[in-house]
Amino acid sequence: MYHKLKHTVITLVSFSFLVLSTHSMAQKLRCGTMERFEYESKENNALLLQRNSISKALKQWKKNSSTPDSYTIPVVFHIIYKNESEYVSLEQIMSQLEVLNQDFNRSNPDANLTPAQFQDIAADCNISFCLAQRTENNDTTSGITYTQTSISSFSLYDNRIFQDSLGGKTIWNSSDYLNIYVCDLTNALGFSSFPGGNPNRDAVVVDFSNFGTIDIAPPFNKGRTATHELGHWLDLYHIWGGGNCSTDEVDDTPTQETENYGCPVHPSPSCDNNGDMFQNYMDYTNDACMNLFTNGQKERMHATLNTERLGIGNTDFCQLPYEDIGIINNIQPLENQIYCGENLELITSLYNYSENAIIKAKIYYQLDDESPIEFEWTGNIEPNTSQDINLGDQIFSTGEHILKIYSSLPNGFKDINALNDTSYTSFTITQGTNIDFAIQTDNYSEENYWAILNSQNDTVVSGNELVSNEMNTFNYCQDLDSCYTLIIYDIYDDGICCDFGNGFVAVNGQNFSGDFGSELQIDLCNTISIDEVMKSNFVKVYPNPTNDYVMIESKTLIEEVRIYDIYGKNVLQKNCHSNKELVNLYMLSSGAYFLQLLTNNQTQSVKIIKR
Ligand SMILES: [Zn+2]
Repeated sequence: MYHKLKHTVITLVSFSFLVLSTHSMAQKLRCGTMERFEYESKENNALLLQRNSISKALKQWKKNSSTPDSYTIPVVFHIIYKNESEYVSLEQIMSQLEVLNQDFNRSNPDANLTPAQFQDIAADCNISFCLAQRTENNDTTSGITYTQTSISSFSLYDNRIFQDSLGGKTIWNSSDYLNIYVCDLTNALGFSSFPGGNPNRDAVVVDFSNFGTIDIAPPFNKGRTATHELGHWLDLYHIWGGGNCSTDEVDDTPTQETENYGCPVHPSPSCDNNGDMFQNYMDYTNDACMNLFTNGQKERMHATLNTERLGIGNTDFCQLPYEDIGIINNIQPLENQIYCGENLELITSLYNYSENAIIKAKIYYQLDDESPIEFEWTGNIEPNTSQDINLGDQIFSTGEHILKIYSSLPNGFKDINALNDTSYTSFTITQGTNIDFAIQTDNYSEENYWAILNSQNDTVVSGNELVSNEMNTFNYCQDLDSCYTLIIYDIYDDGICCDFGNGFVAVNGQNFSGDFGSELQIDLCNTISIDEVMKSNFVKVYPNPTNDYVMIESKTLIEEVRIYDIYGKNVLQKNCHSNKELVNLYMLSSGAYFLQLLTNNQTQSVKIIKR
């Protein structure tokens, strides 16, 4: 116990020394961070102890394979100004941001000025800074706030700058954003908090007269005040440590006696080193004289980003606000609907709950226990509107199914509300083929009724709900296993054409004359076979039924056409060599035949009717 306490006291003493020994300038301090820290420590006695434990944690931190190599920190710039001369333009802010991104990624144009002696340890720190794009409330932000104040200037110890009500700007959550205040700062060019302090004042403050690079007077005109202060914000100490050849807690920076000012001539040795590294951003030299962080400093900053500032370098505040889309319902299939046949077009309705237009999203559909299938949607959905999205044809097995459809990544970003993303639909697929037929009636629809008969001539479904002089449409799911016949009856034996109107019957897109006397029989096997055969075998035969000719179209070359009667007798044979063949049936008597096509070593059959 005694030993532990003693150790703590010794560390505290050495740290206090590091704080108190900081050189003070006659005019403005090059950096007020240590003075500011001393002030904060007086207010919070535990801060020194906390700094100690943080320092230990940083030393213990070792990069492992899962630790990110690069970081992007969202920044909000708070511009506090009283008069026009203190108003910092967007261009000035961008010039400062550019410097930060250069200096922390070793893309600074003056990197070549680093002495050869230090080139090998000069680090690309892989730390970038973005203007925050999203607030914690998921609103869009420019990453810049402007506050006009009645306060003429702020001192290093003035906390009013961190509060709206006191003439400053209330800090944004300092665990999510790096807050950089720009104001008229009287006694230092800038200062920063170290990690672990009061979160309501955890920020970098820079005097407007040395912020950015546009029309700034030398020697602090290259934006390095902010670079330096950000070093502190990421827990770097001044390169001379506490002075008198003490350590800055980084191994590869040469131990040096004290801070350097202006721009010394290299080498400028002290403490038995081969030259102070006064080019380091953590010294006090002129902006034009600074040009590097070291690998050791990089490691310490990465350690900070994985301990005290964990998360802030891997945030989504650099992205636009999250959007909210959702599947409101499915258009097809519909809940509890029975569908005929295995082929179904999936149509869903995507709703935009956001305040911005959505131009892309991912839609997933998942049938029963199968793996989800991804659909990349692009288009445009205005806020608070929906759009039907066709996900394409799908083949389903017969039986009951549950289809899950869900959306994600609106405009490529996380969806803020997962509750409205998903829609479930239960539906049933029955075996069969959909038959659509329509009866255009004449003036006397009460004379008409219809029936569908199976191959044993049993009526499976019938109806007489017909309206005169109208297109009456019906839909029926027919089992493909046997052939059915649709019969349209007229009890006055005068058909539906042409004395009292111009009626006709349409089945699956084929028209049949209404001039039929007492009844019109339509073989549904044939009418459906046109579409079905076309889909499965790439063959189309029409018209069917026919009076004399049939046209045969095939997607592959037709080599031979054979026609068999219902007794299996070959009644016609024709050699061909084309994809489209006209066959004359004039010599055949009325009735059903089987047309057989030999194409590319395949044989396909279509039933045809000769009237
Ligand atoms: Zn400093």
